[in-house]
Amino acid sequence: MAGDPPLVSIRGLCKSFGDVPVLHEVGLAVQRGQVVTIIGPSGSGKTTLLRCINLLETYDAGSITIDGVEVGYRDEGNRRVRRSERELAPIRAETGMVFQMFNLFPHLSALQNVMLGLVKVRRMPRPQAEALAAGWLERVGLGDRLRHLPSQLSGGQQQRVGIARAVAMAPKLLLLDEITSALDPSLVDEVLAVVRTLAEEGRTMILVTHEMAFARNVSDRIVRMAQGRIVADGPPASV
Ligand code: ADP
Repeated sequence: MAGDPPLVSIRGLCKSFGDVPVLHEVGLAVQRGQVVTIIGPSGSGKTTLLRCINLLETYDAGSITIDGVEVGYRDEGNRRVRRSERELAPIRAETGMVFQMFNLFPHLSALQNVMLGLVKVRRMPRPQAEALAAGWLERVGLGDRLRHLPSQLSGGQQQRVGIARAVAMAPKLLLLDEITSALDPSLVDEVLAVVRTLAEEGRTMILVTHEMAFARNVSDRIVRMAQGRIVADGPPASV
């Protein structure tokens, strides 16, 4: 809703790799239930921005808050202190990320891949985690593939396991980084259909994609990046 504080608020975000600046004063606010797509040329900083939000990268200056919590730093008196890995784990669990290369554990079945975070991070009893994971795999159309290893699944199926794994954790925010780029074109639609359903359910998502027709259709806003800066931000028709 307009007027509500944004779920995600990014202000003045700066990030360099060594002395190469990659993000310059990036600012972005995402309301609850919004779907925001980030576009822009290769190397413009899209993935780095998502990785900062999910704390896979540290950032040098500025702030990222999710539901009011500064993700990378805590205040200690009047000093800003980078959070330790231990402090980051529960904060990171509020954000689900799906990657271009699936990143499933190859020696674990589809079911075990989805259960892992529920048991290890959410500390859910195994029977409950198994039921929840199986339910999510059914929702993404893989109810008959629970015991398959990633190598026994198509790319589109593996990516749907990746999505089930992310949403099963009930994150406040989903980050999808070019999740169809590594797929055979014939498998793209089955993955996008799952994303569309999640968007229609009102999940808050930030996605990076080159599927422009899909982005126009599913996004509330499109943000264009160039050379580490946001250069346009508005409804799909305007960007
Ligand atoms: P995009 O997702 O828009 O293609 P990236 O965020 O992947 O852009 O990359 C932005 C810039 O940061 C690029 O110039 C890239 O080479 C550089 N970069 C990304 N990751 C690293 C890293 N781990 N170390 C050094 N440079 C990096």
